Amino acid sequence: MARTAIISDIHANYHALSAVIEDVRAMHCTDLVCLGDVVGYNAYPFECLSYVRELKCPVVKGNHDEEVVTPSNTRMNSIAQLAMDWTRSRLDESCLQWLSRLQYQCIVRSDAGASFSVVHSSLDHPKAWNYIINASDASNNFLRQFSHICFHGHTHAPKIFVWDGKHAVEDRANIYPLYSEGFTEFQPLPDLKYFINVGSVGQPRDNDPRACYGIYDTDINLVIIKRVEYDVQAAQDAICNAGLPECLAKRLGKGI
Ligand code: ZN
Repeated sequence: MARTAIISDIHANYHALSAVIEDVRAMHCTDLVCLGDVVGYNAYPFECLSYVRELKCPVVKGNHDEEVVTPSNTRMNSIAQLAMDWTRSRLDESCLQWLSRLQYQCIVRSDAGASFSVVHSSLDHPKAWNYIINASDASNNFLRQFSHICFHGHTHAPKIFVWDGKHAVEDRANIYPLYSEGFTEFQPLPDLKYFINVGSVGQPRDNDPRACYGIYDTDINLVIIKRVEYDVQAAQDAICNAGLPECLAKRLGKGI
């Protein structure tokens, strides 16, 4: 059996991460992969990083993971930068070393032989941190995607892009149930390619404050994207108590 949970953009939100891992276990997932941005924005960078390290799962690098190790001082807005400086002060040398060694993309293989690719932003220029917002953006990724399915994050909004060999389209029909039911699932067709954004665990930006993650069951060819309730108030309180900008707490409550 191979049922892999795919988590992304934890962003130092320990309350969201622990709720999602509890859900991952309840959903009988056998494996886990993390698509980066473990740190940044929220109040528990050390705790979340330690938790992810203990999980011993494949992890790819996100732009916040890179920025905390190699400050560029140009890429981020002032709030994100402020949180980044605070984050850096919370991490020890071992954490920074671990982050610096993360790959930008990888192929995940199950024991049963199935495989898929993962990247934080997109496969065409993984170090450029492009935001894949629409099908036109996704086209460039598909030209470099040689696997049937690739999972990504970065925008903090779940989406499904499909490639028929010539054109990319956004599959909105299979995302709608996520907003009405908090859950969606579909079976990928063998002759198409899929580029799937699993949303964000720790800072959703699709107007739903609940944590979001994906599951890929290669035995029954099923992709699931689902929401998880967590203690948003506790995460907000921790942000304020840490002295981080209040707007970072407010946005968690709105999912923006
Ligand atoms: Zn992120």
